[in-house]
Amino acid sequence: MFKAILIDRSNTDYQAEVRNLEEEELPDGDVTVRIVHSSLNYKDALAITGKGPVVRSFPMVPGIDLAGVVESSGDPAYAPGDHVLLNGWGIGETHWGGLAQRARVRGEWLIPLPAGLDERQAMAVGTAGYTAMLCLMVLESNGLTPEDGEVLVTGASGGVGSFAVSLLARRGYSVVAATGRPSEAGYLQRLGAGTIIDRAELSEPGRPLAKERWAAAIDSVGSHTLANVCAATRSEGLVAACGMAQGLDFPASVAPFILRGVRLLGVNSVTQPYTRRKTAWERLSRELHLAHLEDISQEIGLSEAIPTASKLLDGRIRGRIVVDVN
Ligand code: NDP
Repeated sequence: MFKAILIDRSNTDYQAEVRNLEEEELPDGDVTVRIVHSSLNYKDALAITGKGPVVRSFPMVPGIDLAGVVESSGDPAYAPGDHVLLNGWGIGETHWGGLAQRARVRGEWLIPLPAGLDERQAMAVGTAGYTAMLCLMVLESNGLTPEDGEVLVTGASGGVGSFAVSLLARRGYSVVAATGRPSEAGYLQRLGAGTIIDRAELSEPGRPLAKERWAAAIDSVGSHTLANVCAATRSEGLVAACGMAQGLDFPASVAPFILRGVRLLGVNSVTQPYTRRKTAWERLSRELHLAHLEDISQEIGLSEAIPTASKLLDGRIRGRIVVDVN
């Protein structure tokens, strides 16, 4: 038997609860993992509360992240005792995920836990930190350097935003952090933000072009915020878009793209190929300011993940939630 959060629904009811499950109930896969830590992401909160169509089949174990130890493996790349990590590939959406003590997954979805990070630290980073790194990588592969000027991070005190601030600052970028929580200004400054702005400056409908402000941006908010971010990006600047905390819509004009050459770069963490995943995680293990992990993350137990999901969607969680599933 193992413990897991199980989401099920009927015609009238959508329910998430901690249940005892049998190993035989695990889905098909060639590697069974004893999970040590998981995490709670925005997508997991949507899945647990039913506020977004994340879960594609029922019953479902949520959790898009897991880190743990291989228990048995039919994949020659992994042996019992190996420390592994998994983000995305549809776990917690179409295949049972990480908010459980066991998972059975396809070996090709796993990567070895990077040297220098234990399971708890890897889950403090989780999909959010990994996505922040993918954003940084796409900005740099399009030519961004610290000399180009300030880089804006929206949703700055959330999971993606906190890591984006920390990683950019560590590489020498001047970071502007947009937040709706002025009380977190000290936290964002500790992570390396040089300037804090009120997210209200960006979240209402704005003009097609605004005064040029930042050389680049990492946006996890979408909607009017992303439109205004693009409108205030400097000529030939770059915007990495990865999230929708304000909304899935993009009520923008093409003006920044055709009049200023601004480039909008989409980032999808779920189906990145193995080599890019490994590169991103190896960079995280080398470049992360490990001291920031404690400030960014807090740990909860499996059953606490259910009430915490609503708080996360309400924007009441700072940084990241690590889940000790045991
Ligand atoms: P969090 O909830 O931790 O952070 C989101 C932050 O956005 C909040 O902390 C808040 O920051 C800000 N925010 C929330 N609501 C609003 C609003 N209405 N208007 C403006 N800002 C708002 O979530 P994550 O960081 O884990 O994820 C952020 C987004 O990125 C989500 O939409 C998620 O689905 C997406 N994502 C996408 C991935 C991909 O593969 N593309 C991977 C990972 C995440 P503050 O209080 O500082 O203003």
